[in-house]
Amino acid sequence: MIRRKKISKIGTVEVGLPIIEFGEGKPVLSIVAGVHGDETKPLLVLKRFIEEIQKQEINGKIKIFSDANPLAKIYNKRFNVIDFVDLNRIFPGDNQGSISQRVAEALLAELDDSALVIDLHSYHMQTPLMAIAVNTTDEKTMSMIKASNPKQVWLINSVNENEYKFGRSLGAELNKRKITNFAVEINQRNISQDEIEDCVKGLINVCGELGLLKNHKIENDLRMFERTVFTTTTNGLFIPLKKPFDYVKKGDKVGSIYDIETFQEIDVLAESEGVLMQIAWNDMVLIGEEIYAIGKEKNGV
Ligand SMILES: [Zn+2]
Repeated sequence: MIRRKKISKIGTVEVGLPIIEFGEGKPVLSIVAGVHGDETKPLLVLKRFIEEIQKQEINGKIKIFSDANPLAKIYNKRFNVIDFVDLNRIFPGDNQGSISQRVAEALLAELDDSALVIDLHSYHMQTPLMAIAVNTTDEKTMSMIKASNPKQVWLINSVNENEYKFGRSLGAELNKRKITNFAVEINQRNISQDEIEDCVKGLINVCGELGLLKNHKIENDLRMFERTVFTTTTNGLFIPLKKPFDYVKKGDKVGSIYDIETFQEIDVLAESEGVLMQIAWNDMVLIGEEIYAIGKEKNGV
């Protein structure tokens, strides 16, 4: 079934959320894409996922939100250009607030009956399939993440100063409401068909874990990390030297930045020790942009 949840008019334009549903009854799995309007690669995952689940009998309901932030999507921006609010920083939203506040409130209301919510994002740095747990490592969340078979897990704790901003993300709010959830990050640039298929297989496996489909069991160990992201203090052309999952020590060279006025090389040195979870692609970077993220491996959480 395809339907549209009305949210509000902005001027004379009606804003709504398109929702695609497969199956009936419980449990309900909700998959969200497009909370950030410029993160378009999850649509490739949804297309393949829908092709796969249409071949199968579904024991429960799968709800797909393909365009969770429609006004941001039409500008291909992270947020819409009417209220300039990051949708993923304002949950639970407000149905009397600005348009982003209303979108947040409406999305949350639609997710309320979910046994599990998966929020799909894509990242501008090189990012092997990553699951994100916000403010929880409870057993159900971790078993669902495990079923999704990510290459890495980012454990967010919004009590920490550098992750405080995630305290009003969708995941944090769902956890307050005791709705199991996790987020996924894939590559926004240069994503391969294999990476898309890995993500789709993970989603199908989660459907099995929830009892929605015949189980496709994958059992890999999770690599879980606390993550710190580093930004560049110089402008220029970034050339990565290391790749995701390389282990770096403090002071190791992870790449170079070439000043585009002189093409002089400036070394980019790791500011801490750990596993490189993400690193920028070879392209222009500007001061303040994220260029790499280092994870401290956490086991037995
Ligand atoms: Zn995002």
